[in-house]
Amino acid sequence: MEQLKEELKQAGYPAYRADQLFQWLHNRRVTAFSQMTNLPKSMVSWLEENYQIDFAAPVRKQVSKDKTVKYLFRMSDGNCVESVVMFYEYGASVCISTQVGCRMGCRFCASTQAGRVRNLTAGEICAEVYAAQADTQQRISHIVLMGIGEPLDNYENVLSFLRIISCPEGLCIGMRNISLSTCGVVPQIDRLARENLQLTLSVSLHAPNNTLRSSMMPVNDAYPVEDLIAACRRYQNTTGRRVSFEYSMVKGVNDSEKQADELAELIKGMGAHVNLIPINPVDGSPYSASDAKNVLRFQKLLEARGINATVRRRLGTDISAACGQLRREEMQKTEH
Ligand code: SAH
Repeated sequence: MEQLKEELKQAGYPAYRADQLFQWLHNRRVTAFSQMTNLPKSMVSWLEENYQIDFAAPVRKQVSKDKTVKYLFRMSDGNCVESVVMFYEYGASVCISTQVGCRMGCRFCASTQAGRVRNLTAGEICAEVYAAQADTQQRISHIVLMGIGEPLDNYENVLSFLRIISCPEGLCIGMRNISLSTCGVVPQIDRLARENLQLTLSVSLHAPNNTLRSSMMPVNDAYPVEDLIAACRRYQNTTGRRVSFEYSMVKGVNDSEKQADELAELIKGMGAHVNLIPINPVDGSPYSASDAKNVLRFQKLLEARGINATVRRRLGTDISAACGQLRREEMQKTEH
């Protein structure tokens, strides 16, 4: 809102025009400036000449047996991203993308296989939420930034998005209902800490030491485990919010008893929560999922060492709802 007021002020418009514009964009969600009927015609022309309204058009939709809905959204330049709506007892949660593709290179992830095409704008990220809400006809109460892309590699747009989606004039989704997941871009974790938002920071850890983590996630070469954990501790001290760790379990790679010990030792005393996720095998990746028994054993080992750990409920497995898979299918289709 402040940005909008400033932008309009520069062009000679009074502040209340920013309120009106914001209402049209983020509450009424019109698709053309000409639909903004309380704005003067000259202002509508000026908007049309200088700006565009970002959108996310559903081009594919898959509904799972468990009601999870996955969308492939097309943006104005033809690029596609994915969003997933999941229904929980506490409400509807949407998992959204922050970039077209990703440049982080995690070996198990479908989203990064073709690299990063571009960042999404704050408007496009908002549009994913609005389109998901419009199509499901359900109020979205929770947001997870865990779709395609690395949110902290698109810092400014993501922050803008967070401010828009949580503000009282917009959807007003509380920061405590928003989780941001990162592969561990340390300087940006510190930057986020300074914003002092009440969102949940999820860190994709996946391995308890540098040798293993670097073999799975190239980002670890730039920001090794000890620096990452130190940044997480700083984040907790600054914001008063506990971080949570994602640990995708790969058979015979990161799921041994020794590794559970190592993980417990690494994060002890943080009160952090560990989310165990059997890895979702993607084409071209050497990894396969730990079996359910092993995942449970790993969980018990962590709990015995005082680490709070849960196994993530799997939703939408029948519709390839894991990140990047639908976009990749679509890209392959258009290539052939
Ligand atoms: N770039 C951010 C957010 C997007 S990925 C991040 O790395 O956290 C969301 C989560 O899904 C991350 O924890 C990521 O490591 C994990 N993930 C990616 N591909 C996966 C797969 N095939 N199976 C299980 N988890 C996966």
